[in-house]
Amino acid sequence: MKALPGLFANNRKWAAQVQAADPGFFARLTTQQAPEYLWIGCADSRVPANEIVGLLPGELFVHRNVANLVIHTDLNCLSVLQYAVDLLRIRHVIVCGHYGCGGVKAAMEPQPHGLVDNWLRHVRDIQQRHREALAAIPDEAERVRRLCELNVREQVLNVGNTTIIQDAWERGQGVAIHGWIYDVADGLLRDLDVCVTSGAELAALQP
Ligand SMILES: [Zn+2]
Repeated sequence: MKALPGLFANNRKWAAQVQAADPGFFARLTTQQAPEYLWIGCADSRVPANEIVGLLPGELFVHRNVANLVIHTDLNCLSVLQYAVDLLRIRHVIVCGHYGCGGVKAAMEPQPHGLVDNWLRHVRDIQQRHREALAAIPDEAERVRRLCELNVREQVLNVGNTTIIQDAWERGQGVAIHGWIYDVADGLLRDLDVCVTSGAELAALQP
């Protein structure tokens, strides 16, 4: 019960497979990591970052939380972003939401869910800002999907407005911020076409 032997057996099998396919793989990773991408995604178990984009250990720096939020005062997320941009010099930040997000759905519900409602208040704020456009969508499932997309867009702006990204752009360091959404129903990613690579592009997207 305490040891979870199944998971350790899986791990030994996985490590042996990776080692067999590329004998120097783990030895190389001990000396450095040089990922090109930072993934900011939802904690949802159906959205495993590396698998979705077919990247190996060492190729994707990852931060995940409920509903893939980038909050201006969240030192956890901001520390990940700073490390990724300032030290690892990643070239791309990917904010990836997903359809069927339980966090986004819960934010739209009237009943309380406990502590998490404080976190999800950020999603509800986005819902409030877009309430007219959302109210015009008659189908409830479609409304949730739309808010999942609007949430990604908002988080792309939040990444762009951090001092970390502003400073990087200021000193001429190229960092692109992408907004994607993943569909757990078909395993496919969609680009929401909200990519920003400069302060001017960010300003053009902001109301
Ligand atoms: Zn989610």
